[in-house]
Amino acid sequence: MDCIFCKIINGDIPSTKVYEDARVYAFEDINPEAPVHVLIVPREHIDSALSIDASHHDLIGHIHSVAKQIAVEAGIDKSGYRLLTNIGRDGGQSVQHLHYHLLGGRQLKWPPG
Ligand code: 5GP
Ligand code: ZN
Repeated sequence: MDCIFCKIINGDIPSTKVYEDARVYAFEDINPEAPVHVLIVPREHIDSALSIDASHHDLIGHIHSVAKQIAVEAGIDKSGYRLLTNIGRDGGQSVQHLHYHLLGGRQLKWPPG
């Protein structure tokens, strides 16, 4: 499958690792939108949050726990941060492998554009 994030997980494309375990890989976004911009991805290829089913519930909870751990280690847990996943064309998803953006280190704007 020609998936850029599967290639990053497999090590075929280099990345700056932030965290990894048996189910999840996290790395720095190549085009950071904030001082902290980490992508948290399941090792399993899932197209988007639209493809999540009951078999993924524990994985999604785990991703939230990993995000919290990364935020603490980055020192942005007290100041706050954003955890989000873009879905489909209107959601602004450009890579078709489920991923969560962890953004922080500055005041983030709301609503999104
Ligand atoms: P999306 O737009 O799908 O929500 O987010 C995809 C993210 O992946 C973007 O923020 C983009 O900068 C990042 N990205 C795309 N290609 C690469 C890459 O090869 N390496 C890294 N580290 N990030 C990438
Ligand atoms: Zn993939």
